[in-house]
Amino acid sequence: MGVVRRGQVLRIVDLEGNQAVDTLFYNADDTHEHYSAQNTIQAQGRIYLTTGSVLLSNRGRPMLRIDDDTCGRHDTLGGACSSESNTVRYALEKRHMHSCRDSFLLALARHDHGMSKRDLPSNINFFMNVPVTPEGGLRFADGISAAGRHVELTALMDTLVLISNCPQLNNPCNAYNPTPIRVMTLGDLTRESA
Ligand SMILES: [Zn+2]
Repeated sequence: MGVVRRGQVLRIVDLEGNQAVDTLFYNADDTHEHYSAQNTIQAQGRIYLTTGSVLLSNRGRPMLRIDDDTCGRHDTLGGACSSESNTVRYALEKRHMHSCRDSFLLALARHDHGMSKRDLPSNINFFMNVPVTPEGGLRFADGISAAGRHVELTALMDTLVLISNCPQLNNPCNAYNPTPIRVMTLGDLTRESA
């Protein structure tokens, strides 16, 4: 979790390829305002995120804009993995495995923003491939990203960024092999970032 100031650029690099990066954004000054998948999809009239996508909040305000994207498509429908979904999708004995929802909850508990479960809306999965079939079906597919691909987002407000680098081992979104990512902020660094 960290803050990207308005005007700064957040770059996320998929270092080894096919790593799903589960991400949430909040207004750094008022965390009741957060990323809204519904508003973003509705406003742009398409379901995938890529260059030109403006990420809208639950109050309909622009939070960040994707200005560069060498992957080409990012998901915001598939949600975050959890111990519950691991149990339902895979097997009861998968329940103890690390999950993005647990990562999110741990980060919220460790940072003093007064946030809890109720502050976890639907997230973005950068570099994750969740194709929608012509019939409207969803499936988690092998990734379309590759080593070194990146996405850059310009912050349009001071933004609190919450990332779970997905530890999922049970579906092909991470090629069954979670790998590191690199996160950096670029641009207007004269203002302090947390
Ligand atoms: Zn995950």
